[in-house]
Amino acid sequence: TNFSDFNFKAPIAKALEAEGYSTPTPIQAQSIPLVLEGHDLLGIAQTGTGKTAAFALPILDRLCRGETPRPKRGTRCLVLAPTRELASQIAASFEAYGKFLHLSVFTVFGGVSVNRQINRMQRGTDILVATPGRLLDLINQRALKLSDVEVLVLDEADQMLDMGFIHDLRKIVPLVPKERQTLFFSATMPSTIAELADQFLTEPKKVSV
Ligand code: AMP
Repeated sequence: TNFSDFNFKAPIAKALEAEGYSTPTPIQAQSIPLVLEGHDLLGIAQTGTGKTAAFALPILDRLCRGETPRPKRGTRCLVLAPTRELASQIAASFEAYGKFLHLSVFTVFGGVSVNRQINRMQRGTDILVATPGRLLDLINQRALKLSDVEVLVLDEADQMLDMGFIHDLRKIVPLVPKERQTLFFSATMPSTIAELADQFLTEPKKVSV
């Protein structure tokens, strides 16, 4: 498989070239076509396998298709991640792969001032990367809504479980429209995670590396 097989939009192909990526990793080769086709995805993969690009590239491709200019709306892609570090890395990847696109990316996590995040959210963002606790705070303070989310990603679901975010996830996911694409990644599949995946995903395609 080659990146050109995916027929990414020109700005994304250009960003891949700028990143120096020549060959998709196994998780990318398996996942990208399925995500581009609009399927829900259950991915068993660890960090370091290239899983971030496996979801970020096809999501960016989907978001930049269609109507231009888009009327201003709410968040179109929500990514949930267990830690500030991972959330920041994911956001940096979306920014790198999307640098020739006009999509905004914002990250929210706990442990820092909530007011700046509230102010920033008022301007809206196309892609929001968040840790579950802080996201729920912002929702409870009516700083954002999830009614425009088209793509939902849960990354490192097993780590979110270990960190006690499962109740937050159970509150957040029902606020996202049912008519959505959901991508769910975990390094391991304990029964609680399998049940969660079963609840959140619709006829998912399964990939594992
Ligand atoms: P991840 O597993 O998403 O944390 O990615 C691990 C590292 O691999 C990151 O530094 C990416 O920039 C890099 N990477 C991802 N996909 C590719 C690729 N197809 N070719 C070269 N490097 C890649």
